[in-house]
Amino acid sequence: MRFEFATAGRILFGEGRARELPEITRSLGRRPLVVRGSGDRFRALLAELESSSLRLSELPIRGEPEVQTVEDGVELACRDGCDLVLAIGGGSVIDAGKAIAALLTNPGNPRQYLEVVGQGKPLTDDPLPVVAVPTTAGTGAEVTRNAVLGVPEQRVKVSLRSPRMLPVVALVDPELTYSLPPDITASTGLDALTQCIEPFVTPQANPLTDAITREGMRRAARSLQRAFEDGGDREARRDMSIASLCGGLALANAKLGAVHGIAGPLGGMTSVPHGVACARLLPPVIETNLRALRAHAPGSPALARYEEVARILTGRESARAEEAAEWVAALVEALGVPRLGTYGVDEEISRAVIPRALRASSMKGNPVELTEEEIAGILAIAR
Ligand code: NAD
Repeated sequence: MRFEFATAGRILFGEGRARELPEITRSLGRRPLVVRGSGDRFRALLAELESSSLRLSELPIRGEPEVQTVEDGVELACRDGCDLVLAIGGGSVIDAGKAIAALLTNPGNPRQYLEVVGQGKPLTDDPLPVVAVPTTAGTGAEVTRNAVLGVPEQRVKVSLRSPRMLPVVALVDPELTYSLPPDITASTGLDALTQCIEPFVTPQANPLTDAITREGMRRAARSLQRAFEDGGDREARRDMSIASLCGGLALANAKLGAVHGIAGPLGGMTSVPHGVACARLLPPVIETNLRALRAHAPGSPALARYEEVARILTGRESARAEEAAEWVAALVEALGVPRLGTYGVDEEISRAVIPRALRASSMKGNPVELTEEEIAGILAIAR
């Protein structure tokens, strides 16, 4: 057995810890580029930074980041002489911040560093220090070594990936997620759950990611519906922030699977939010993987792993593996996550997604190789 486990330089977790941001920032630099969401939601946090004699350069991000977003950020940070990046927001903002920090010290067109559609050129220099402050409980991007970027001319979303891209500090304050509305709580939370399940059933799992994903699944299973029903439920919000962190720790050190393999290209071709794609794809992917494993690899350890997933989610010792899919499907319905068809995903788009999904890096982590027909079947159910 060989494995490596890498994560952010420091992980600071706890309610109210966002107040430590000015001190952390001052210990790392003088002129932060603040990458943030487009609204004014965290203005008080920025005001605290400003009142501690830090001059901020702000880059508001709308939607999920594209290559152009990174180029804009690099231009702004160069102009203002920024010496560190604070990314305060959901996965979109954190990914944008990580990619900008990387491109500031590794110059050139971002496309040359992208995997799948670019040359996948390695980063040769350490990025500017990044402090990642998540405000969704979903992606765990504060502890991952990649940034997902849209490449609109090729209609794909792919990763810029390097061990150098791990943030220097991940500051996880569940209080920042209290303002998430129920629909975003649901979709981002189901992404977190997916990111605990896929690295648990992948052949690339290791004992550390196993421990982390079990913990993440348990917390998401008991708390996602509670956080959806009452956004002020402190314990449920805390559980979801931990589950999200667990998902990030796991995906950075094991692999994902078919849900993310399909969600990536789907997100590049349509406006389906990442969490919604994960939520709708997760139940049919579990069902299809189980069918394919039973038919082609009945001795695969992934079957026992899915049984354990079912036991954790349902809380019943006698649960069959298939009940994992049933449990998630029921939760997705209960949380009212829209079907993919709501975002215009039809048969034609689904057909175009399939070859891209087969090439996606996450697909390599799936516990069984899926055929084009199987992926078409998954998309038909999710639509
Ligand atoms: P997001 O960052 O796109 O945010 C979703 C919405 O929630 C946005 O409208 C945002 O403004 C809003 N929002 C964020 N915080 C809020 C708050 N506290 N209160 C109210 N509204 C808030 O969503 P996400 O799911 O966190 O991130 C998705 C992106 O992350 C996708 O591009 C996806 O591909 C990427 N991703 C990256 C990784 C990684 O390891 N780097 C892993 C998974 C997903």
